Amino acid sequence: MHILVQKYGGTSVGSVERIKNVARRIIKSKEQGYSVVVVVSAMSGETNRLLDLAHEMTPEPTRRELDMLVSTGEQVSIALLAMALQDMGHPAISMTGAQVGIRTDANFTNARIQHIDDKSMRAELAKGCIVIVAGFQGIDQGNNITTLGRGGSDTTAVALAAALKAKYCEIYTDVDGVYTADPNKVSDARLLREISYEEMLELASLGSKVLHSRSVEIAMNYNVVLHVRSSLNTTEGTLVVKEKKEMEQIRINGVTSKTDEARVTVYDLDHKPGVAAAVFGELAKQRINVDMIVQPSSTEATHTNRISFTVKKSDLKTVEGVIENLREMGAVKGKHAIDRDIAIISIVGVGMKSHTGVAAELFAILAKNKINIEMISTSEIKISCVIAEDRVLDALRGIHAGFGLDKEPEKTAPPAASARKRA
Ligand code: ADP
Ligand code: ASP
Ligand code: MG
Repeated sequence: MHILVQKYGGTSVGSVERIKNVARRIIKSKEQGYSVVVVVSAMSGETNRLLDLAHEMTPEPTRRELDMLVSTGEQVSIALLAMALQDMGHPAISMTGAQVGIRTDANFTNARIQHIDDKSMRAELAKGCIVIVAGFQGIDQGNNITTLGRGGSDTTAVALAAALKAKYCEIYTDVDGVYTADPNKVSDARLLREISYEEMLELASLGSKVLHSRSVEIAMNYNVVLHVRSSLNTTEGTLVVKEKKEMEQIRINGVTSKTDEARVTVYDLDHKPGVAAAVFGELAKQRINVDMIVQPSSTEATHTNRISFTVKKSDLKTVEGVIENLREMGAVKGKHAIDRDIAIISIVGVGMKSHTGVAAELFAILAKNKINIEMISTSEIKISCVIAEDRVLDALRGIHAGFGLDKEPEKTAPPAASARKRA
């Protein structure tokens, strides 16, 4: 019998009525002949409520206790969903991350799955039971409860689908699928029927919270077909699949933004080998993820330099500690500055590999909207710009309209080299 993994997010299990609705959907899949494993999130708002409670208790809760606390949200929804299914006459069992053998590293609040022992799940499926698993959690080697980072239930679902070699992994959420932009921010965003793993990974890492980025990474590595769709209607949704040749004919598939990062600038660094290695080496030791880095050319007269980089706002305290240490070690001599009021806006598309001029077009759209670009970074399939946080919605909407993302794209072959504009 084929295995199907379904994941329902917080809004989809946000009330008793919605949980019953989810139970009915699961039963339909079971009746189509699938063995069903279901991953659920905490009821909407619950994880935030628990985090607020923790911060009321103490300004700096330890990360181990935070995980112990927030993991309870998912336990409420798995038990309620199992009850609903049982009440409708279908055998179901709820299981925590530990009970289904999800082993992670010990990086509390942002743990990575290392291994899944699927024996217990397979035993329950063999009995004809629907297995309901708590998303977003696992246990480390010391049997401590860990969580996978905000939005991590998607990752639980994809990891289980990979371990069980499931036919599909369906992600049910509160929108109809993956759009060209967040439909709650850009009203004419267009639903995409298909998107490549690479594009989805960039979009997710650059702020589209419709999928947890780690879930896309696992899906790509294990060839899990991901199907993102609504839990509230029967719209077909979006398939996340391997890149096909014709996908390159479309220049851009999406625009996204994030506002959870800050920019740190360290001034008057010696312009000599080893300085950047010292700064970023110390940040890496503290497990700080650095996103964009810009180093302008040195000031000839003083032989000094400055480096700007972006990090999560929630990591700023640790980053300031690292800079203080570097100052004591003599690696940093000048001052540093922090700008919290930034946003990173990005466009993504595999077509950028073969079409030129996209960057120039993006900069022209931002200029037309009088939006200043403060940093730029590019890869083969994305361009990101740091801009002022208060212009982020204007930028999203301007870029979406400017590139005509609301309209079905004309599939154009890349222009002949002689006709190409340079970026
Ligand atoms: P869930 O609770 O189901 O996991 P999330 O809130 O984590 O749902 O993710 C769904 C939300 O992602 C949508 O409500 C939407 O606002 C947001 N989103 C951001 N970018 C996109 C996009 N490109 N396509 C669809 N949704 C997006
Ligand atoms: N409940 C967790 C969160 O709100 C995990 C998830 O919803 O995926 O981040
Ligand atoms: Mg989510």
